[in-house]
Amino acid sequence: MKAVLAAVAFGSNLGDRAQQIEAALAALAAHDGVDVLAVSRCLETRPVGGPPQGDFLNGAVLLRTILDPRGLLELLHHLERRAGRVREGSVPNAPRPLDLDLLLHGDSVLDEPGLTVPHPRMHTRAFVLDPLLEVAPSLVHPVLGASVGELHAALHDTPSDQVP
Ligand code: AMP
Repeated sequence: MKAVLAAVAFGSNLGDRAQQIEAALAALAAHDGVDVLAVSRCLETRPVGGPPQGDFLNGAVLLRTILDPRGLLELLHHLERRAGRVREGSVPNAPRPLDLDLLLHGDSVLDEPGLTVPHPRMHTRAFVLDPLLEVAPSLVHPVLGASVGELHAALHDTPSDQVP
């Protein structure tokens, strides 16, 4: 497929967080069909929901890729497993060595089993939009019709219980 810009959020709150993130970003950059264009700083954030657990390191990466959304998600799941992530039987929002979410993939709008793009909660989460603003402020959310910069401003201007 034609190369598109894609954005991925990363997070970790178990084990050697920085090392696991670095290894995943290196593997992404080394993968055929994926160019890493920009990586945000890592932000330390409090966990949202789930059982008591340690703080996250969160960030975002801007890619250019010829992988389609499903192919890119499969690669992200492979990297999560390689970092020791176990999904089966785990409680929701359990601590994880690596979490990789596909946020945006060109103009793709998909709602399929196991894959929703744009990511349905990306515009409600500061731990996603704060780092995404660093790497892709002008990327446009194809459903909301707003840039990352506009979504970020809306999130921080709006009390969290009023964000859709
Ligand atoms: P989580 O445990 O929060 O990482 O959720 C992962 C689950 O969400 C997996 O079953 C994925 O297939 C599914 N999923 C749906 N859309 C996305 C997306 N855009 N990015 C990452 N995971 C997704």
